[in-house]
Amino acid sequence: MSIEKPRQFDRNVIVIGAGSAGLVSAYIAAAVHANVTLIEQHKMGGDCLNTGCVPSKALIKSAKIASLIQRAPEFGIHVENAKIDFKAIMQRIQAIIKKIEPHDSISRYESLGVECIQGEAMMTSPWTVTVNGKTLNAKNMIIATGARPFIPPIKGIEAIDYLTSDNLWSLCELPQRLVVLGGGPIGCELTQAFARLGSQVTQVEMSARILSREDESVATIINHQFKQEGIDIRTNHLATEIIKQGEQKILRCQHNGQPVEILFDEILIAVGRTANSQGFGLDKIGIELNNNQTIRVNERLQTTCPNIFACGDVIAPYQFTHTAAHEAWYATVNALFGKLKYFKVDYNVIPWATFTDPEVARVGLNEQEAAEQGIAYEVTEYSLDDLDRAIAESETQGVVKVLTVPGKDKILGATIVGNHAGELITEYISAMKHGFGMNKILGTIHIYPTLSEANKFAAGVWKKANAPKTLLALVKKYHQWMLK
Ligand SMILES: Cc1cc2nc3c(=O)[nH]c(=O)nc-3n(C[C@H](O)[C@H](O)[C@H](O)COP(=O)(O)OP(=O)(O)OC[C@H]3O[C@@H](n4cnc5c(N)ncnc54)[C@H](O)[C@@H]3O)c2cc1C
Repeated sequence: MSIEKPRQFDRNVIVIGAGSAGLVSAYIAAAVHANVTLIEQHKMGGDCLNTGCVPSKALIKSAKIASLIQRAPEFGIHVENAKIDFKAIMQRIQAIIKKIEPHDSISRYESLGVECIQGEAMMTSPWTVTVNGKTLNAKNMIIATGARPFIPPIKGIEAIDYLTSDNLWSLCELPQRLVVLGGGPIGCELTQAFARLGSQVTQVEMSARILSREDESVATIINHQFKQEGIDIRTNHLATEIIKQGEQKILRCQHNGQPVEILFDEILIAVGRTANSQGFGLDKIGIELNNNQTIRVNERLQTTCPNIFACGDVIAPYQFTHTAAHEAWYATVNALFGKLKYFKVDYNVIPWATFTDPEVARVGLNEQEAAEQGIAYEVTEYSLDDLDRAIAESETQGVVKVLTVPGKDKILGATIVGNHAGELITEYISAMKHGFGMNKILGTIHIYPTLSEANKFAAGVWKKANAPKTLLALVKKYHQWMLK
């Protein structure tokens, strides 16, 4: 490297990227009185605020209302002439982004003591970055440049204006026939939302089922729900070509060795995300990448340049806002204090949710992962069609499924499918994080009638299956004796 290590640094740390990972990094650095500069080339808040979590959840809410209006007669209410105003839905989404924007804004971060710079950062040495023609130096760097939608090399794709989670939010009209390519969480959330708003959606997935990371029984619930809502799910369909014939757009797929053609007006590509790890000088300073383009980091989240750390989607063992924030803590604390003490990133209890309706939330292992890893487990299930609150709300789709160590109440993982599963899973996250098991959940008062009682009832099912049989036989004898 031609640039020598400065004798004196102007800053403790420079953070590149102001998405979830970069914002939390800058926040922590400022909170511990480090001198920190945050550089963002596009919008403060990154994907989560502008094109990811926030707009998608706002869209899902409109879609939920549309679905409830459709179901209104079931609740004894007749709604005449309900109309989807797609423009108004998209305007509401932008208004919500605007409302949350101040949380991630330059003025907020400056008030916290962070120097914020708008511009594209280019690494010129392990200690220097150029932005807007100026060179800045820092003792440490944190790379939090995120990821972008992966565009698969399908023949003809470059000839059409396809949608991704990046440009979707500026759509002005509801697509009539929408193909969603991808059966993962983002594809599923958007498939259902658009279908509920009135698009005729075909969801195309090359593997045998949607939500393939989840257990088959879990994916089947969502598959069933989607079919009931009129979604055309095409699993085992490998997209091979996009053809444009005049106004007609066609997706050609291979299905069981046969060609299949699907007509569409718009196609949304949701087949995964690629790390933003190239084009800003990482290769020139010796930062190594993994085969999938993510930045290679060690357990301290340190890159192959010892003073440079990375976090968030750009390292991507998990691609969620909460894991980006979690990693940001390790990256920042290790960058600033690693000479005194360092911390190994803890991926032991990682939760997530897919915000379909019903939601799918998970923490820890599911059955397919336990089987793959050869981990012995006992599975306990409690179906929501037994739960009073779910019955009262006519939202009985779903299950609480918990994996425990055989013969013990230690939780290995939990999956909840159901209304508000993303909230309900927190009890199992706490249990796993703080080491309490099914007995403690069973011994906790849950308010009646709530959805969270499902967690307690699942613990009850576990207890019944693990009841001390010898003791109960003795107790039975005792009761018989007491009759005398
Ligand atoms: C449709 C959708 C829905 C989602 N829903 C959820 C959800 O419900 N829950 C959840 O937890 N997660 C969700 N996610 C994932 C979540 O959005 C990401 O995991 C999270 O935003 C990652 O944050 P990050 O900081 O790593 O990256 P980003 O948010 O992508 O931020 C990276 C920032 O770096 C900037 N940058 C890149 N290169 C440079 C450079 N050279 N110089 C300066 N700046 C640069 C970019 O402009 C960007 O702003 C969703 C994602 C999508 C797409």
